[in-house]
Order: sequence, then C-alpha cells, then structure tokens
Amino acid sequence: VDGTDEAAGQQRTRLFDRAPVEALLAPTALRAVLEGLPDATVASGSDGRIVFVNRLAEEQFGWRSGELIGQPVSILWPERLRARYTRNMQLYFATEHPMRFTLRAYGLRRDGSEFVGEMSWGVVETDAGPLLLAIGRDISERRATEARLRRQSRQQAAIAALGERALAGADLADLAAEAVERMQDTLPVLAVSIRKAGAPQPLAAWTQGRGGGAATTVDIRTGEETFGTLSVRTVSELGEDEQSFLRAIANVLATALGRLRDESRMRHEALHDPLTGLANRTLCHDRLTHALARSGRTSGVACVLFVDLDSFKRVNDLYGHAAGDALLVAIGQRLVATVRPADTVARLGGDEFVVVCEDVDEPAAVALGERVEEAIREPLVVDDAEHRLSASIGIALGRAGHTSPDALLADADAAAYRAKSEGRSRVEVFDGRLRKHALERLHTAAALERALSLGQLRLEFQPILTLADDAVIGHEALLRWDRPGGVMAAPADFIPVAEESALIVEIGAWALREACRTSAAAHGADPRGPTIWVNLSGRQLAQPDLPELVADCLQESGLPASRLRLELTETVLVHAPATGIRNLAELKRMDVTLVLDDFGTGYSSLAHLRDFPVDGVKIDRTFIADLGRSAGDTAIVAAIVSLAAALGLDAVAEGVEEKGQAALLRELGCPLAQGFLFARPGPRMV
Ligand code: C2E
Ligand code: MG
Ligand code: MG
Repeated sequence: VDGTDEAAGQQRTRLFDRAPVEALLAPTALRAVLEGLPDATVASGSDGRIVFVNRLAEEQFGWRSGELIGQPVSILWPERLRARYTRNMQLYFATEHPMRFTLRAYGLRRDGSEFVGEMSWGVVETDAGPLLLAIGRDISERRATEARLRRQSRQQAAIAALGERALAGADLADLAAEAVERMQDTLPVLAVSIRKAGAPQPLAAWTQGRGGGAATTVDIRTGEETFGTLSVRTVSELGEDEQSFLRAIANVLATALGRLRDESRMRHEALHDPLTGLANRTLCHDRLTHALARSGRTSGVACVLFVDLDSFKRVNDLYGHAAGDALLVAIGQRLVATVRPADTVARLGGDEFVVVCEDVDEPAAVALGERVEEAIREPLVVDDAEHRLSASIGIALGRAGHTSPDALLADADAAAYRAKSEGRSRVEVFDGRLRKHALERLHTAAALERALSLGQLRLEFQPILTLADDAVIGHEALLRWDRPGGVMAAPADFIPVAEESALIVEIGAWALREACRTSAAAHGADPRGPTIWVNLSGRQLAQPDLPELVADCLQESGLPASRLRLELTETVLVHAPATGIRNLAELKRMDVTLVLDDFGTGYSSLAHLRDFPVDGVKIDRTFIADLGRSAGDTAIVAAIVSLAAALGLDAVAEGVEEKGQAALLRELGCPLAQGFLFARPGPRMV
C-alpha cells in the first residue's frame, strides 16, 4: 500500500469517522429526524398518553411540547369526537398487524378552535412497547378553497341553467321555483322568497320552518326598472361571493320578467285599441267566436251591439282631434260602465264601438241597447266644452251553427246603418228584412262598379233659369244609371251605396269630366256662356287631389273655370275635414264657384252662408213644394232669399213645379229657379 493510497484511505476513514452510522442511530439523532419532518407528528403510548410532539405539532396545536408530554392524546381532539377517536386508537393497538392509513381527522387547538387535517396513523412496535404515531398536516385552508371553488362552480352552473330556462321562455312561476331550488342547492338558506312588485303572493317561496339566521334582500331589476325582490334567510351572514350569486339570480329573474312584460305588452297592443284601451277588432272577433261557441251549450244566444256615434266627425272638425279622442275615450268608459262585467266592449276604429254579450235573449239585448243609447246621450264635458252625442245602435243575435262571427258583425252593422237612416239616436234589431237590404246594398255596389267600367252611367241636364225672364243661365248635371233590363236607377238609390263603398270618388270624377266636356261642347269656351252645375259628394271633397282633378277637367275640355259651379250640401260642408276646407279655398282661387245645395234640410245655419266661401244657395225643394200654402215655409224662403241677396249670393229655388210657386218666388225676389215647371232633366242641354 503506497503512501498515497494510505493517505486517501485515512481521509476516507476520517470522513466516515465524522458521521458514524452508529451515532446517527442514536435516539437523539432519530428525534432530530422526527423534528425535521415537514408534518406535525405526535406519538402516544398504548395508554393513550403523549410521549412525543414535534415542533410543527407544537405550532399546529398551540401547546409547548413540555406541556403535552404525559397528557392524554385526546386533549388534541375535539370534544365531540373524543369517544370515537379513542375507540379507534384502542382498535389500532389491539390489531396484530401494524396498520398505516391516511384519513381526514379533526384537531383541537389550545385556543379551542378546530382544524381539519390529513392524518397518517400507524402503530409502530418499539422495544418499549407499541407506539401510535400520528403524522398530519392542516388542510383547513385547502379544504375551504376547494369548497369555495366547488360552490362557485355550482353557483355558476345554477345561473347558467336558470338563464337558459329564462331564455327558452319558461313560465315565470316555474322559473322562480327553479331559482329557489338552485339557491337551496348552493346557499345555506333557511328561507327564500321571490316576489313580484305589487303581487300579493310571492312567485315562489320556501322556508325551513324555523326562524333566525341572517336576512338578505336584493332587488330584481334591470336598469331603472324594479320588478320585485329576492329575499333569503341564511344560516350565517352571506359573503361577497354569495351576495354576487344572489344578484346574478336576481338579474336572470329581472331579464325574464322584463321580457315577459314586453311580451304581454305586445300581446296587449295586438289585441287592444291604443286610444281607448278597449278590445280591438281581433279580440272582438275572438270574444264573439267564444260567445257563439257558448251559445251552443246554453239556452241564451250570442249578441253583438254595433254602436255608431252620430255625426261624430263634427266634433273633430269643430273642436279638434284631441277633443275628439278624449270624447272617444270617455264614451268607451261609459260603455264599459254600462254593460255587464262579462261583456266585451271593443272599438273597431273611428267612431264605431261594439259590445259582445254572451248568453242573452232578445229583450235583454234590446234593454242593453237602450241603456247604452241613454248612456251616450248623457252630456259629456271635455276641455270645458259640453258635448251631446247620440248613437245609432244595431243589434244582431246569433247561435252557434247558424251564423259566424263575421256575419253577426255585418248584421249588427247593417242594423246600425238602418238605425242611422231611420233618424239616428235609436236602437234597431237586425232581422231578415235587414239582411235583404244589406245584401241588396252589396249587390248594388258590385253592379255599380261594373256599370262604371261598362259605361252604363250617363248624365242628364236640367236647366236653371232666371225667374225674371226665364232665360237659361246654366244646367245641373244629374247622374243616371241605365241598369241592364231597361230599368233606370234613381240616384237616391245608388248614390248612398256609392258613398259608402267609396266608389263615389271615381263616379264623381267621371261625372265632373263628362259635365265639363258636354258643356264646353255645347256652349264653347266663352267665360260668360251658360254655367254647368255639378254635384260633389263629401268623399270627393275630402280627396287631396280634387283641385288637380278639377283643373284637369277644365283644361281637357277647355271650359273656363268661371262656368263651373260645384254643388255641396251643408252637411258635407260642415263635416269637411281640413283637406276639404283647403280644397274649397283652392277651388275658389281657381275661380270655380261653390253653391250650397238642398239648403234648409241640414243644419240650416244661416251663419254657414257667411262663414264658408260659397257663392250661391239652392233652396231645398221641400220648402218650395208648400210655398204659398204653408206660411212657415213661405217665411223661410223669404228669409233665405233676402239674406242671400244681402250677402251677395245667388239664390236658386229647387223643384219648382207650379206656376204659382214661380210667381211667389218672383215676388219674393228669388233670382233663379229649377224645376219640372221649366224643364225636366234631359240628355241634352237646352
Ligand atoms: P239634387 O242635387 O238636389 O238634384 C236635384 C234633384 O231634384 C234631381 O233629382 C232632380 O231630378 C230633382 N228635381 C228637379 N226638378 C224637380 C221638380 O220640379 N220636382 C221634383 N220632385 N224633383 C225635381 P235626381 O236626379 O234624382 O238626383 C237626386 C240627387 O242625387 C241629387 O239631388 C244629388 O244630390 C244626387 N246626385 C245626382 N247626380 C249626382 C252626381 O253626379 N254626383 C253626386 N255626388 N250626387 C248626385
Ligand atoms: Mg244638386
Ligand atoms: Mg238639391
């Protein structure tokens, strides 16, 4: 062995000497190992007394090692678990085979607080006997974090599920019930309730039946709007996380409630009249269908009251649309107050209301109609103005299997139309005769439309003369319809139908064009030649393009504007909408003359002669008929004639049939006349 080897060997020996295995095996060294373990370690003997505690265990339990040695190990266990842990310990010692396992165990600190630890237990045999070694670490924090994460993800899942249900349009009560369930799953709740603002009952609620706990309430709201509240009572005060979970649930509910509110608003709008809030045509039809279906099961019948306000347009014209609207709303309220709660009041538009009743009989329906009629006649005050309205009411009754909602409505409409034409402010019950009338009106309208396109309409002309010297100064154009089969229809029969179907606009335009053409053809373009008087309907007057139409007709025919006189009744004039009034001014500007027709039969207001831009007045033939025989009529004619003269208006006496009438008119100073005495209407201008 050379020196070098020796030296190396000595060095190895020295190294070895510094840390002899034997020394490391000494009890003090092993103790240091136990001390150095990264886990709290407690050893106890088979009598359950502690024999060793490492530094980490001291820290964990809050005791000094010296204080614990010799104490029963159960001092480190929570009171409630001591019996069980003691039994387990005895079991470990009694088992022959040494056991080692890890489990979750609770520890008790010196200050009385508990912690949960992950423990390895094992009985080790030593020379001095068996020793129970418990090695463990506090996992309270980890557990708390885990639990929190688990709870959070459960809460998130709950909100997601709830949100999905809300989006799928779940029923509100279902959604609220589900929200309650989710909160039961994810929060330590003792009670939950979800309330909708203003509702007496909660949407959903649950309670464990015992009081106490901490109460938290959050608003169910989106933006400015609060729909209700979500309240919980929990075992302990809610933390930040839980509160935001609660708010998230409330948000989902708010979204759902908001959407439902929008939907019901839309549904309401689709079925109700926006002005009065009453049922609209669609809902009316629905209720009528229902009423008819019910009539199949009871002895009563379904009934429709068609309520048509008389001359309502006049209110709009005189007081403005705002007042008109306010009146319609008030009338709607009156109707609702007059009918039975189960009846439906609908507004079909304009001034037409409908009441649908189920399970009534005819006397009851008529009694209701009369009540409604009276209710409408009660004076109404809007904007300090007192209004007296009346209505023409049509009643139709029907039974399932015999009629349809549409037919019943049409029947009631026809009855109201008849009530109106029989003098307004009355109740009329639909019957077979009316049905015939209604059908006739429909047939007439259809036939008239064909007549117009087939050229079956023509004009006749009746001269208008000066009473002083019987000179023809012009002609009135009167419409004629030669119906197939050689029957000539009187304008009185078909013009009202044409008015109703709006066909009058086309027919009137045709008549105007034809009249201008004929007059220009007969009398040339002399501005002082004979005039042509053309009747204008209310609907025509309301057409925005009336002035253009007139200008067209004049231009086409070459007729000077000063030779055209348009006849309007007083009723048409008074009911004329703003467009109509504008048209009148424009026509005047064009140099066309305007004449009030049938004067004395409508409002008979002499003020109208002054207020409207008219140039002449035609005294209705009903006053002429008894002229000389009736002192009243004579006085009226005398008054009209002198007033017209004073206002610088032309006066025409209509329907002069007798020489005596003509003589008296001359005496009264009436300048112009028209009538069978002078000439009947004929196809040619004379
Ligand atoms: P109106 O404008 O008052 O026309 C005068 C009516 O009195 C005409 O009836 C005429 O034939 C009739 N008549 C004339 N002289 C006498 C008489 O001495 N005795 C009697 N009993 N009647 C006489 P017609 O042609 O049946 O017209 C009835 C109404 O139809 C007209 O009343 C007018 O309101 C309307 N009408 C006629 N043509 C048109 C038209 O083209 N457009 C419009 N919108 N309405 C028209
Ligand atoms: Mg006329
Ligand atoms: Mg007339």
